[in-house]
Amino acid sequence: MSAFDLVVIVDWSARARPSPSRPARDAIWIAVADGAGVRCDYLRTRDAAERALAQLFEAAIERGQRVLAGFDFPFAYPAGFAAAVAGQSDPLALWDALAARIEDGAENENNRFEVAAALNRLFPGIGPFWGCPAADAGPDLPRQGSARHGHGLPERRAVERLVRSAQPCWKLYTTGSVGSQALLGLPRLAALRRRFGAQLSVRPFEREETPVVLAEVYPSLLAREIAARAEPGEIPDRAQVRVLAETLRRMDPGVLDRLLAEGDPEEGWILGAGQEDLLRAALPPLPGLAPPPLRDDCFALPAGVEWTPVDEALALLRDRLSPVAAPVRLPLAEAAGRVLAEDVAALRSNPPLPNSAVDGYGFAGPAPEGPQTLPLAEGRAAAGQPWSGRLKPGHALRVLTGAALPEGVDTVILEEDTTGDGARIAFHGPLRRGANTRRAGEDVAAGDAILRAGRRLTPADLAVVSATGHAELTVRAPLRVAVISTGDELAEPGAAAAPGQIFDANRPMLLAMMARFGFAAVDMGRVPDDRRALRTALDAAAGQADAIVTSGGASAGDEDHVSALLTEAGAMQRWRIAIKPGRPLALGLWQGKPVFGLPGNPVAALVCTLIFARPAMGVLAGEDWETPQGFTVPAGFEKRKKPGRREYLRARIRDGRAEVFASEGSGRISGLSWAEGLVEIEDGARHIRPGDPVRYIPYSSFGL
Ligand code: AMP
Ligand code: MG
Repeated sequence: MSAFDLVVIVDWSARARPSPSRPARDAIWIAVADGAGVRCDYLRTRDAAERALAQLFEAAIERGQRVLAGFDFPFAYPAGFAAAVAGQSDPLALWDALAARIEDGAENENNRFEVAAALNRLFPGIGPFWGCPAADAGPDLPRQGSARHGHGLPERRAVERLVRSAQPCWKLYTTGSVGSQALLGLPRLAALRRRFGAQLSVRPFEREETPVVLAEVYPSLLAREIAARAEPGEIPDRAQVRVLAETLRRMDPGVLDRLLAEGDPEEGWILGAGQEDLLRAALPPLPGLAPPPLRDDCFALPAGVEWTPVDEALALLRDRLSPVAAPVRLPLAEAAGRVLAEDVAALRSNPPLPNSAVDGYGFAGPAPEGPQTLPLAEGRAAAGQPWSGRLKPGHALRVLTGAALPEGVDTVILEEDTTGDGARIAFHGPLRRGANTRRAGEDVAAGDAILRAGRRLTPADLAVVSATGHAELTVRAPLRVAVISTGDELAEPGAAAAPGQIFDANRPMLLAMMARFGFAAVDMGRVPDDRRALRTALDAAAGQADAIVTSGGASAGDEDHVSALLTEAGAMQRWRIAIKPGRPLALGLWQGKPVFGLPGNPVAALVCTLIFARPAMGVLAGEDWETPQGFTVPAGFEKRKKPGRREYLRARIRDGRAEVFASEGSGRISGLSWAEGLVEIEDGARHIRPGDPVRYIPYSSFGL
């Protein structure tokens, strides 16, 4: 909900002739954002722009809408100028004084340099205005800024000392000659003021809640953010007004009103200067560009290494992979479990207003030591039912938990600590000022970063983004992961199995794991040990999924067709990782899609998925790299381990100790199901005795 139904942002121009008929830069651009979207108009003359704005305002007023119109030129000059020109320091009087001097025709023909020279004559020395074509230069208007002296005015307004990239308004010519834009813009605004009278006000000089509000803006406060949101080939001026209009339209009404009120009564202010975080928080989302494909060599391993340690293998995956899932905009209700595609900042503070933390009585604190009696004001303040008005000093008001504190209340005494007769309350002081209240923004302030891109959204995350004013989030489409089992020996569970066959145990497990990880699992069935069949299956998988997981056939044997095919495709690496259980992993790209070729043994398949495939696929899905959270617990077992590789034992916690499955055989599927996590034993040699500390990682830490 915006305080304004329409936000209009105008990029002004000081051209002396109409702008080209084909939309161009350095011309007048007007963006109009409403709740539904944003429209951009290109105008060739200031005259046409003034008419267009008047029409826009009129139509809005007729519909009962409020309009905020922002202009990218200074609304005021450094202190002292208005008084010298208009006889008073009120910038709006200066607008009228300028309007009386400036002539600006229907074809942009104008007298700004003459006016500037005449204004300069009001001041001693040379200046303050400078810059013009040779033909317009004269004793009163120098071509060089350095030729000025003795005019006695500051070079910059306070806001321009804060925003260094803003040009001083004295400069009339060449790059960023904002001075000419103001001389030719303010008279147009003065005309709009005359036309709309009491229906229009100018911030920060006027405070009325009028249907039309004018304010000074400076899109370059968001230069980088706007550039990132420009459409391909978009004229920069258009992108500036478009993105800024959308940003202000999205801003929380309370926050926007506060920003509009800021500034100096004589020098004015640029909306949002010094509070860029608040502007950034309201930026429209980045366009949903399709992420770039993975590089062919993303799975390349360092040459000549026999066995790669687990940590090195993980570091390689982490560095080489990047998100492949495209960003999409979703309402909150559909965003749970999705991965955030961009950082999220608070659009609004929580709490938005100071409020009561308890049921009780509010008054202006602090209360001194000793017995207190306060007369009770009529009415009460409850959550969602504010008490309007100002509480008189020395009075108390009934307030309930969550009620916004009315003016005159900053302290609340707990109901239980009072006695009352309906007309007065009594209690014992002291009570510090602010007791039993919550400050506005004490939880989260508008503009604060709340969640980072790469986070998988939890139910609690939805609470904080809702509370801070979001209704939609930019998340990533779920990563689609195809799962294929390979092996002549495999039979489908439920089918009749020949004596030499085994049931496919990996596929149901892997499909369920992918779903648990938040991916969209795609079942591609079983494939016999046949290269043609496997090729067909990989083609189909690459067509439907973002990543492919296979099990079996990943070693270098005769029947290891996954690794053979990937090698043939030229983008395969056999990762010999120093891990037990685990055989070589075949990592590669099939038609640009990453393939995780897992060993066939279900135990190795599960461990390799948890340790390697899961964090790697998380990156593809747009998630931060995940290091599973482990816990140091006493061992409930004894084990001697040789150096050279990292070991994972199927384990669970009983009586505060990690116990491990009786057999380490990697064919023992029952142990996977018996276990509730893994014990990780580091790469070196180790003799673990009962009671020694070991690292236990519950399945849940892996996202299972
Ligand atoms: P492979 O990696 O193809 O050499 O297979 C290693 C071991 O895992 C063999 O004993 C296979 O029979 C077994 N295996 C392969 N795939 C599966 C599966 N989907 N379900 C159960 N066991 C499997
Ligand atoms: Mg096999």
